[in-house]
Amino acid sequence: MQTRFEPAQLAAPAIAEADAILRKCVHCGFCMATCPTYRLTGDERDGPRGRIYLIKEMLEAGGSAGPEVTHHLDRCLTCLSCMTTCPSGVDYLHLADIARTRIHNTAKRRPFERLLRWLLARLLPRPGHFAATLKLARFAKPLTPLLQAMAWSRPLAAMLRLAPFRLPAPSDLKGGERFGASGLRRARVLLFQGCAQRVLAARINEAAIRLMTRHGVEVLIAGDEGCCGALSLHMGREDEARDLAARNIASWYGTVNRAGIDALVITASGCGSLIRDYGHLMARSAISGQAARLSDLALDITAFLEDIPLDDPETPMGLKVAWHPPCSLQHGQKIKDAPARMLQRAGFEVYLPADSHLCCGSAGVYNILQPEIADRLLRDKQENIGRTGADIIATANIGCMTQLAKGSQLPVVHVVELLDWATGGPKPQALARLT
Ligand code: SF4
Ligand code: SF4
Repeated sequence: MQTRFEPAQLAAPAIAEADAILRKCVHCGFCMATCPTYRLTGDERDGPRGRIYLIKEMLEAGGSAGPEVTHHLDRCLTCLSCMTTCPSGVDYLHLADIARTRIHNTAKRRPFERLLRWLLARLLPRPGHFAATLKLARFAKPLTPLLQAMAWSRPLAAMLRLAPFRLPAPSDLKGGERFGASGLRRARVLLFQGCAQRVLAARINEAAIRLMTRHGVEVLIAGDEGCCGALSLHMGREDEARDLAARNIASWYGTVNRAGIDALVITASGCGSLIRDYGHLMARSAISGQAARLSDLALDITAFLEDIPLDDPETPMGLKVAWHPPCSLQHGQKIKDAPARMLQRAGFEVYLPADSHLCCGSAGVYNILQPEIADRLLRDKQENIGRTGADIIATANIGCMTQLAKGSQLPVVHVVELLDWATGGPKPQALARLT
């Protein structure tokens, strides 16, 4: 694709990066067929090629983002299905990040929308604030139909629908805690706690710790770590994402140097995708070297476990599992089938639903900000999962778990909960009713 940036524009690192990405696109349109939003709306501007054109026009023109590019970028899930399909290696992820930052800084949004985005960026990364909000949301749930009836308040209705009726026990993991390996130690890892996951499903990291320590992995918990920054970055709040990343890097780097860590393990693939990209996010900062080192160490738990031979199950688990590969895992980290293979080895019957390459509609805060499209994607996903005849849905990202659990008859668990159970851990609570 030809671009027409002025030399002065190209002096800005973000524009130079966007220019290099744009020039790789050959307009072939292969990416359109696998874009969930284009499949739903049929509008070229809701597909990657159309969005790339809109971004190019916005950046070349300079100045503020207009309503057209804002609308169609807002409707992008950042699912990265287009990057898996693109034969030219167009780095849509970083192009979209650059565009979203421009949109966040310059677009005119309605005051309520601004407020909502600001609130989400304040509340979700702070476990205490997030837990308190969820507790309040319980009392507001009866207002959902009223809020759903008006277009402006539908994101609030979406939030209330996602909020669980009861919050599980909070995580009692503490910074600086160490969990020793059983038997001969094979590895020592730092386990990332996350923010929303800590509130919604502390059981995931508890299962991960049991599973890893039982298989000879020592697990350390860092102090003073926080949100990875992905939610902020997806809303174009790049400076906030960098601040959050800098805090984590400061927290982890000392432990990594002191203790000699083999991997930084992450159980939420959405967080893992960004942490594995900290080297890029912080490339122009004073801590770029530390960020790059931590990116290299960062691994999704399913990738880490591939090199750890897990015990065989004592008896076949005999349950049918629909494996939902999160976009951040399959498109962001290029891990799709390995978790399914691990579940099979652990004695589960595993099914990959049709259209498994398509997003469930979660996508960070997308299911709050774009509830109509998110609901349509979820409906399709649930139908495809239903056709497998599975007893359980297993996935690897807290965002997908919350989205898939919305209105689902099937229990939704993290893959490590099943692997933990199969190798001697307790039965996941979500499966209590299954015999
Ligand atoms: S990231 Fe997903 S929704 Fe966005 S353009 Fe690519 S395929 Fe479409
Ligand atoms: S598949 Fe790649 S090269 Fe082709 S239009 Fe899409 S982004 Fe451009």
